[in-house]
Amino acid sequence: MSSEFDSKWEEFEKGCRECTGCVLKETVTNVVIYRGSRKAPLMIIGEAPGAEEDRIGRPFVGRSGKLLQSLLEAYGFSDSDYHICNICKCRPPENRRPVPSEIAACKKHLAAQFRLVQPKVILLCGSTAYEGFFGEKPVMKDVRGRFVEKNGYFIMTTYHPAFALRNPANKIPIFEDMGKVRDKLAELNLMKPFEGINA
Ligand code: URA
Repeated sequence: MSSEFDSKWEEFEKGCRECTGCVLKETVTNVVIYRGSRKAPLMIIGEAPGAEEDRIGRPFVGRSGKLLQSLLEAYGFSDSDYHICNICKCRPPENRRPVPSEIAACKKHLAAQFRLVQPKVILLCGSTAYEGFFGEKPVMKDVRGRFVEKNGYFIMTTYHPAFALRNPANKIPIFEDMGKVRDKLAELNLMKPFEGINA
């Protein structure tokens, strides 16, 4: 028998899959909702699915996702520690950025997801994630790498992993920011203390 949480989760997923709030749905193969754990202390939010994510139906499974996953594993995260999703659940054609009306249409789903997952720490990956979350465009070099505390949540912004694919040196700030996230989770007793890189 499924629990009340499972029923709420199923209802949430159904709402995402049946959504016709913007045009993106018309061209997707899959509505991409999450990977990781349904309840998790860390929520990682990206921009929108790419081609591989659309094909498989899970976020961050392409090249950017592999990079993100390698950072998570290096810091000793396991599936139960995180929930990975995007500002938009449908892939924009040609991998363009989602436009504000598409981000706005998806916001209610992200809010529902947030209520179910109940994270304590949020990692926003890239400027679209920041804009979708805070409603304003960021200057990434100014906002990245520091926590903002809002309504009891600790929110960190970092560069999108695709930025590191363009230039491997860009991995360094993302790696540092992930380390701060890892330390915050340990400080909040939501993960055990970090004992060194799993290379
Ligand atoms: N980029 C994103 O922002 N999200 C994904 O799921 C994949 C690539």
